[in-house]
Amino acid sequence: MTYPGTTTQPLRVAVVGSGPAAFYAVEYLFRQVGLNVEVDMFERLPTPFGLVRGGVAPDHQKIKTVTKAYDQIAADPRFRFYGNVEFGRHVTLADLREHYHQIVYATGAQTDRRMGIPGEDLRNSHAATEFVAWYNGHPDYRHLQFDLSQERAAVVGVGNVAIDVARILCRTPDELRTTDIADYALEALSHSHVKEVYLLGRRGPAQAAFSNPEIKEVSEMEGAEPIVLPEEAELDELSKSAIASSADRSLRKKVEILQGYAVRQSTSKARKLHIRFLVSPVELIGDESGQVVKMKLVKNVLVASETGTLNAKATDQFEELPVGLVFRSVGYRGVPLPDVPFYERWGVILNEQGRVLDPEAKQPRVGEYTTGWIKRGPSGVIGTNKPDAVETVTCMLEDLTQAHVLHPVQPEARCVEDLMRQRQPHYFSYADWQRLDEMEVARGKAQGRPRVKFISVEEMLGALGRA
Ligand code: NAP
Repeated sequence: MTYPGTTTQPLRVAVVGSGPAAFYAVEYLFRQVGLNVEVDMFERLPTPFGLVRGGVAPDHQKIKTVTKAYDQIAADPRFRFYGNVEFGRHVTLADLREHYHQIVYATGAQTDRRMGIPGEDLRNSHAATEFVAWYNGHPDYRHLQFDLSQERAAVVGVGNVAIDVARILCRTPDELRTTDIADYALEALSHSHVKEVYLLGRRGPAQAAFSNPEIKEVSEMEGAEPIVLPEEAELDELSKSAIASSADRSLRKKVEILQGYAVRQSTSKARKLHIRFLVSPVELIGDESGQVVKMKLVKNVLVASETGTLNAKATDQFEELPVGLVFRSVGYRGVPLPDVPFYERWGVILNEQGRVLDPEAKQPRVGEYTTGWIKRGPSGVIGTNKPDAVETVTCMLEDLTQAHVLHPVQPEARCVEDLMRQRQPHYFSYADWQRLDEMEVARGKAQGRPRVKFISVEEMLGALGRA
């Protein structure tokens, strides 16, 4: 018996999403010797790369060079890109089943987790994910406004996203001017009045989720300095023994860095980044106009769970922190896709090792797979998506030999192209994106910046002469 991919009939694969996980899945498919495969990638935005373009902080340009590897994957003649095409709107699951043998969902985690406390929706209280998308020029978020006339801001959570947000709030205009931050964000942040930024960790220094290079970097900012309270930098007995028995040396290093901040002499830098530990917001308090003016924090202690994890436990001690701007940075969350099984509790597509599961039968759905944050949740760095994608593609290849594939009635590439022309005449090919990319880089060069981004779909269409 022969299967698509092993004969002259190519295995046709649709990938929904174009971030790192999507590209790593394609890369691994293309690396299979003897596999005759073609991949079409569908992306809601005209531009590819997901959080590499819309999430990675603008002052972390080096991380973004990873897209060079994605360009190489896209240069393969077996690859096609359909940008500005939304799954569920321009192309549905039923369409994909008509045209492909296998489908991979790699849509990431597009929204945020909530704190679940009173006052969370007061004016000037935002999701960090929205601020990140705004300063990165994501077309859907460019209209947002953040009240940077406030002098005191809090960022809830101590993960790498929280650090990114705090750093961008603390950077000087000169530091930001050398990045690819959206022009409107550069303008707004250049006039920011924010002086004090509070990063709030509910557990202790040894449990902070940020990584060491990120926490080191905050001491190297031009106009801001990190401050840690000596009593909060001290480890409790449970954390001390957890560190002593841990093989992870970077954990010890992280605590050393934070304890170093606690004993440093203050400098004359105008902005202060206060990194607090063992505190949880329990309420945001507003004024008569509904604008946040302070936060009520409870002091926590650490207690060991049955599994040995150290959890935060609230005490009966409270404090009030006056702040006029709040960003919750307590994790991203996946968004369900039309007609695709979703596990609400974890905010991911229901799956086993990347095989999408039927919610009732708990059996794999034929031909449907998932990879990246929408598969495993919002954890890990860009590289974490590589082994994740390999796991998913391995399942796809195993299923191929068992003929557990879809049976498209129109598997030819040109049929999809015809369909896209009808459904979304303004779709962007990879060549279109590369022209935009060149223009962005050229605009940046003129200003001594890595690029100046186009920030609306209309602008992008206009730049290509297709308005
Ligand atoms: P994260 O690493 O999971 O951190 C979430 C933070 O929110 C943790 O400090 C967590 O504390 C805290 N938190 C959760 N629920 C809370 C609550 N109800 N109240 C108070 N605090 C709460 O998530 P992230 O920062 O969004 O980052 C997502 C992933 O992207 C991570 O893997 C991160 O490393 C990665 N990333 C990497 C970079 C980089 O490499 N430069 C940059 C950005 C993002 P607990 O630990 O106590 O739960």
